[in-house]
Amino acid sequence: MGAGSAGCVLANRLTEDPQTRVLLLEAGGGDRNLRLRIPAAFSKLFKTDVDWNYRTQPEPQLGNRELYWPRGKTLGGSSSINAMIYARGQPADYNFWRSLGNIGWGFDDVLPYFTRAEGYVGSSAPGPLSIDRLRFTTPIGQAFIEAGARAGFATLDNFNGPAQEGFGFFHVTQRNGRRESTATAYLAPARRRPNLMVLTRAHATKILFDGARAVGVAYQHRGTTASARADAEVLLACGAIGSPQLLMLSGVGPKDHLRDLAIPVLMDAPGVGQNLQDHLVCGIAFTCREPVTLAGAETIGNLLRWVGWGRGPLSSNVAEAGAFIRSSPAIATPDLELICAPTWFVDHGLTPMDGHGFVLAAILLRPESRGVVRLTTSDPFQPAAIAPNYLTADGDIKRLLHGLAFSRELVRGPSFDRYRGEEVLPGPTASGAEGLLDHLRRRAETLYHPVGTCRMGNDAEAVVDSALRVRGVDGLRVIDASIMPRIISGHTNAPTIMIAEKAAALLRGG
Ligand SMILES: Cc1cc2nc3c(=O)[nH]c(=O)nc-3n(C[C@H](O)[C@H](O)[C@H](O)COP(=O)(O)OP(=O)(O)OC[C@H]3O[C@@H](n4cnc5c(N)ncnc54)[C@H](O)[C@@H]3O)c2cc1C
Repeated sequence: MGAGSAGCVLANRLTEDPQTRVLLLEAGGGDRNLRLRIPAAFSKLFKTDVDWNYRTQPEPQLGNRELYWPRGKTLGGSSSINAMIYARGQPADYNFWRSLGNIGWGFDDVLPYFTRAEGYVGSSAPGPLSIDRLRFTTPIGQAFIEAGARAGFATLDNFNGPAQEGFGFFHVTQRNGRRESTATAYLAPARRRPNLMVLTRAHATKILFDGARAVGVAYQHRGTTASARADAEVLLACGAIGSPQLLMLSGVGPKDHLRDLAIPVLMDAPGVGQNLQDHLVCGIAFTCREPVTLAGAETIGNLLRWVGWGRGPLSSNVAEAGAFIRSSPAIATPDLELICAPTWFVDHGLTPMDGHGFVLAAILLRPESRGVVRLTTSDPFQPAAIAPNYLTADGDIKRLLHGLAFSRELVRGPSFDRYRGEEVLPGPTASGAEGLLDHLRRRAETLYHPVGTCRMGNDAEAVVDSALRVRGVDGLRVIDASIMPRIISGHTNAPTIMIAEKAAALLRGG
């Protein structure tokens, strides 16, 4: 269930074996729409029919704001609406997972599953997922990288190489300047296989059990109720919100919570929905004195350039350049990321701003704060209650403020002299740590990376074991971003694809 980043990989890899039959259920519709392919237009997909359009609960550390959380609702899931940055994360992230007792999930163990997916353009890497350099970058991204070099950081050609610390342009999941989702990379080539059936607009409402064994799924398909029986296993890949939601709706979750909602408890699984982690991002914005940003990129000429050659500003992923840095020399690996966007990416790009501007944003890579996903009702069509609890752990605020202050220093330095206009956000009156903290509380938003709500592990609160089987029941696995025990210090699409590649190999006995 769920044809997102993980689900499409699974559908392809499992049906490579003609003996395995797969029914893939996706709540959203198809992805044959040009607007899903234009990289620079990703924020135009927000709050449309391809977005679950979630809102969090009021966030206590963020002025009780209810944050907007987009998640993809179409073939390809969030990989069909994301910002396309391809980043594996740090080897130390996976070694940490292994140190928690997750045998087979250290970096050396998972590396073959990254490389199995990867099809780096211009290399001999044969994987199905096309990963390319950006075909269009701006002088703003270049100034950012130069500012990093002046501050003593390495300029990196690839954040997925041996070192992550430094500044550089991102690699992106694109093919010929168009978005590459897991639907385009994995599902499309498998669609004609007779052993794969894909149902769109099929919203899974409940996992069906026979005793403690998952035997199928109930779903609503274009207004009618239906069910499907699994001969082998039920695989849940509905993402960090959808997967715990469906488990709880099916009676697998914290027993008191289920009882409060009159859901019969099949298995008390206290960890379901817990351990929610996300990357919080906060930006500072400046006007730009030269017309070199993405403002005004939406012209017929640029559209033709993109349609004809896959080039020009519309092939930009907006978040063109980045950096991984440490908030203190005492920390072994980068715990902050900076992103440079050569445009007004304010309020998810939803607030129109005039003229040319650019944004530098700081992201806390390994937050200690933990949130929770809960049900609000037993109705499967109502959204879950999402409480990320951002910045509730000691230390998270301090580290993120370091990132913001450093971003400001970079822009105030000589590399940006040509471009830097006024500081619009937070603005010159917001001085010192207090001004930045106030800005953080008013303006911080999700970087769209929720994970961890069906955590892998072998303790009492772990939801799945290291083969991603739901502990305490049979015939059911969770395979998506929700299984991450701790969030990766990078972006979450590549790790999710890796998880699905590894799970497919496990299921095929490889
Ligand atoms: C706006 C945005 C920008 C991002 N940018 C980046 C980036 O640049 N780089 C990066 O690495 N990561 C990025 N991410 C994060 C990354 O895309 C996700 O971590 C990843 O796609 C998660 O994969 P998944 O398979 O766990 O979930 P998803 O890809 O979200 O898939 C879940 C699927 O399940 C379906 N589903 C849910 N519930 C049901 C149900 N009840 N019945 C049937 N189907 C259901 C959903 O519709 C969806 O298709 C971004 C995400 C977003 C939203």
